[in-house]
Amino acid sequence: MDRETCLSFDRQDPLAAVRQEFALPDGVIYLDGNSLGALPRQTAQRLNQVIAEEWGTGLIRSWNAAHWIDAPARIGDKIARLIGASAGEVIVADSTSVNLFKLLAGALRLQPGRHFILTESANFPTDLYIAQGLIELLDGNHALRVVERGELERALDGSVAILMLTHVDYASGEIHDMRRLTSAAHQHGTLALWDLSHSAGAVPVDLKASQVDLAIGCGYKYLNGGPGAPAYLFIARVLQDAIRSPLSGWMGHAAPFAFESEYRAAAGISRQLAGSPPILSMLALEVAVDLWLKVDRPEARKKSMALGDLFIALVDDSLRDLGIEVASPREAPIRGSQVSLRHQEAYRVMRALIDRGVIGDFRTPDLMRFGFASLYTRYVDIFDAVSSLRDVLITRAWQRPEYATRLTVT
Ligand SMILES: *Cc1c(COP(=O)(O)O)cnc(C)c1O
Repeated sequence: MDRETCLSFDRQDPLAAVRQEFALPDGVIYLDGNSLGALPRQTAQRLNQVIAEEWGTGLIRSWNAAHWIDAPARIGDKIARLIGASAGEVIVADSTSVNLFKLLAGALRLQPGRHFILTESANFPTDLYIAQGLIELLDGNHALRVVERGELERALDGSVAILMLTHVDYASGEIHDMRRLTSAAHQHGTLALWDLSHSAGAVPVDLKASQVDLAIGCGYKYLNGGPGAPAYLFIARVLQDAIRSPLSGWMGHAAPFAFESEYRAAAGISRQLAGSPPILSMLALEVAVDLWLKVDRPEARKKSMALGDLFIALVDDSLRDLGIEVASPREAPIRGSQVSLRHQEAYRVMRALIDRGVIGDFRTPDLMRFGFASLYTRYVDIFDAVSSLRDVLITRAWQRPEYATRLTVT
């Protein structure tokens, strides 16, 4: 596999032109779209217009005239199309962590007499922390049941209220069988809640076909919504009027501008809103989601699998005996849009690599993650990234003393 071959893959890539929709800096190979998606060119233009016209000139009139007030539901309907949900089943609000809190609290009340939230120990930390915090707040009758990945189905029984899982593992990229696990949960009367943060924009998701009850997901990773972009939540239609939000703010009231003194929950998914939506961030996310809606998504998945396979083949080929181990599934169909490599000095190696313009990230204790956002990653980027990694390892460039100190965000 040589560089020329990779360039020829790029020439044949049906998605090659989509890269032009992104403002990527020269001299950088960006393999961290799984942590913070790149900037769509349209975003700056749209935000400039929103700031100057809708905010600057329209002022408060824009809540109606520019349809700001409809943004959470409108963008939710668009995201619904990306994850196999129907219009009215998804709303954009808050962060993923806050949405998880709302859904867990709301769903636990539907499951009286069931005391457990079942999850796996490798789940994304914020998901574990939020569940721990909620349980602490409750009556003392609830607990988290944490098991290893392979034990999940055996740990299901009639005492489990909610099965809470992340679809694509943030560290290894391994994909759970959403349909099978959801069905196993349902056999015990357990509700299934899926975190789609590493799924939407990375792998196919069909919430309806999998009969998922509840889901949450992040706007700033593969969806490219911008740093700290609002997150989204999904509630299957049949559950919407039974689930209350514990954050009963005015935006989720049946009549926010009636200014009643008693809370009355809005019908449907709107009751999951708490406070005013962050319009600038919302509209940045909308630009990015609109871009996704124009893309051939099966083609995007095909490409992300091919990029991952190429990366693994090059690593096998050129990094032998350099202390590197592939820490993601080798089979593309069960691997998300990332490949992780294990190395004893992963943190320092990643810092050295970033200084050479190849941006991935580090996850404790010994993983380097490389994300392959198929809308803007080229085959030749994969070739060049592995060459740079080889160079960093062979020259031991990672031994520079400044790489020994951890930055706040890794
Ligand atoms: C990135 C990520 C989140 C992010 O949570 P925020 O509260 O939006 O910062 C949550 N869950 C998973 C699985 C993630 O990968």
